[in-house]
Amino acid sequence: MSTLFLSHPAALDHQTPPGHPERPDRIRAIDRALEDERFAGLVREPAPLGTAAMAELAHPAAYVKAIEEVAPRDGMIAIDADTTMSPGTLEAVLRGVGAAVQAVDEVMTGRARNAFSAMRPPGHHAERTRAMGFCFFNNAAITARHAQKAHGAERVAIVDWDVHHGNGSQDIFWSDGSVMYCSTHQMPLYPGTGAVSERGDRDTIVNAPLRPGDGGDIFRAAFETAILPRLESFGPDLIVISAGFDAHWRDPLANLNLTEADFAWATQKLMALADTRCEGRIVSLLEGGYDLDGLSKSVAAHLSALMGA
Ligand SMILES: [Zn+2]
Repeated sequence: MSTLFLSHPAALDHQTPPGHPERPDRIRAIDRALEDERFAGLVREPAPLGTAAMAELAHPAAYVKAIEEVAPRDGMIAIDADTTMSPGTLEAVLRGVGAAVQAVDEVMTGRARNAFSAMRPPGHHAERTRAMGFCFFNNAAITARHAQKAHGAERVAIVDWDVHHGNGSQDIFWSDGSVMYCSTHQMPLYPGTGAVSERGDRDTIVNAPLRPGDGGDIFRAAFETAILPRLESFGPDLIVISAGFDAHWRDPLANLNLTEADFAWATQKLMALADTRCEGRIVSLLEGGYDLDGLSKSVAAHLSALMGA
């Protein structure tokens, strides 16, 4: 079965201030890497435009409306010190939402084995009622909720290997035992959450923080000892990956030393678990990753693994 790849040129139209690491060139670098013939087998579809109702799967209607209303017609507005909106931002955000929902529909109905959305801006820092850390709507949370509401998934696991802790995803599912949130991330680092002691009201938050300088061996050990056994016993009907690639050694925003091979390894581990637990169903969403070479090589390794190459 196939691997679905969703993206859209609108991802290039979310402008950020000069020098901002979360920039349109990230998507261009991924597009270039995927021109290689080993990706000829990807099923490529344009990310459809999502709706406010989809965003409301993870956020209150008033928050969704506020984001829509604050979006500028021209110029740029700052939501916080690192999070800005340009005239193209809202469409990019909504196509990120639409891609997540489309990916769930294709994977849950068996039309695709797994799926990857290469959209920006990312989503995992967006809390229920707060945009922050380059993020507006929490795509991973929307993905999990849509799988539950539209496809009857009982349990969904979100695995987040972005180098930053996904405070937004943790916030949204803190009291919800039907969605497990697992994260490896550098600590200390933005946004400051993600201690092992943060376990949620239902013990379904699993944080495995890493220290600055840690490399692939320590990442893999944390993944195998702290995360995979919890996923096994949880038994998800779908695995969502918050696939940030800023733990790559080249990344300018953090100090972990992962390589693209580590991301491929983690992908294969999750695929093996998904094969035994949920017919291989994985939806992966691009989060961070700010060195263009590290990002494009890591996405290529991740996609090669998802394709079974
Ligand atoms: Zn990040």
